[in-house]
Amino acid sequence: MRMTFIGGGNMATALIAGLASENGPFEELRVADPSNDARERLAADYGVQTFADAAEAIDGVDVIVLAVKPQVMPLVFETLRGKVAPGTLVISVAAGIRAGAIVDALGVSAVVRAMPNTPALLGAGVTGLYASPGCSDEQRETARSLLAMAGATVSVDDEGLIDVVTAVSGSGPAYFFLLTEALRDAGQALGLDAETATTLATHTAHGAGVMALQGGADVSELRRRVTSPGGTTQAALETLGAGGFGELVAAAVDAATRRGRELS
Ligand code: NAP
Repeated sequence: MRMTFIGGGNMATALIAGLASENGPFEELRVADPSNDARERLAADYGVQTFADAAEAIDGVDVIVLAVKPQVMPLVFETLRGKVAPGTLVISVAAGIRAGAIVDALGVSAVVRAMPNTPALLGAGVTGLYASPGCSDEQRETARSLLAMAGATVSVDDEGLIDVVTAVSGSGPAYFFLLTEALRDAGQALGLDAETATTLATHTAHGAGVMALQGGADVSELRRRVTSPGGTTQAALETLGAGGFGELVAAAVDAATRRGRELS
C-alpha cells in the first residue's frame, strides 16, 4: 500500500515515526508539506518521499492522511478537488471537520475521522475513530493500525460521539495538567519548595496513570484502596465531593462537547 500524509507537522511525525520503525503494510510513505525544513527533516529522519505539492503527492496512493490544522483544510480541499481516486481511503485527524464534508470535497466514500490527543506525540495517546459507512473492514483496520502507532485506539459508530471523544480525551490532558498544577500549588502553599512540590505532583500523576492502566483493577477500586476510613485521603475526597467535584467534571465535559458541536 502507498500512503501520503498531507501536512508533515507534529501529529504526522508521530505517526510516521511509528510506521518507519515497523514492517507494516506500507511499501511507500510520502509527505506533502509547504515547509522546506519539515520536508528535509522528515526525509532525513525517516526516509520518506517528500513533496511541496499535495496534488502531486497523492498520485497513485491507496491512503491519504489529512494532518493539517482545521483552518488549512479548505485550502487542501481546493488543491485536491477532482484529483483523488474514488477508492482512496482518507483519514483525517483534523478536529471539527465532518466526514461528510470530506466525502463531498474529495469525491471519495471511505473516510475515517480520528481524534488523537497530545500524548500521542510520545506514543502514549488515545485516539477515537469514526469510519464513514463507505469504509470496508480492511480500510477500518488500516486506519486503526495507523493510529495505534500513537497509542491506544477506540471506535465509535456514531459520528456525533467524536465530539464526546474530543471532550473526554482530546481536551482531557489539560484537565489532568490542571489538577497537577493545583496539587503542586497546594503543596507549595503549605510549605513545600517549588521543585519538591512539582516532583511530588507530576510523579503522582504519572504513577496514578500507570496504576489506572496496569493496576489490575477498575479506577474506582484503586481509589477505594488508597482511602482508609477516617484517614487523610478520605478527608481530602470528602472536601472534593462537598465542592461538587464529580458534577463539575461532568459539566466541563458537557461544555467541551457542546463547544465541539458548535465548531464543526
Ligand atoms: P502542525 O504541527 O502545525 O502540522 C501541520 C503541518 O501542515 C505543518 O507542517 C504545516 O506547515 C503543514 N501545512 C500547512 N498548510 C499545508 C498545506 N496546504 N498542505 C500541506 N501541508 C500544510 O499541526 P499538528 O499538531 O500536527 O496537528 C495536525 C492536525 O492534527 C490538526 O488538524 C490537529 O487538530 C490534529 N490534532 C493534533 C493533535 C496534537 O496532539 N498535535 C491532537 C489531536 C488532533 P507550516 O507549519 O509551514 O504551516
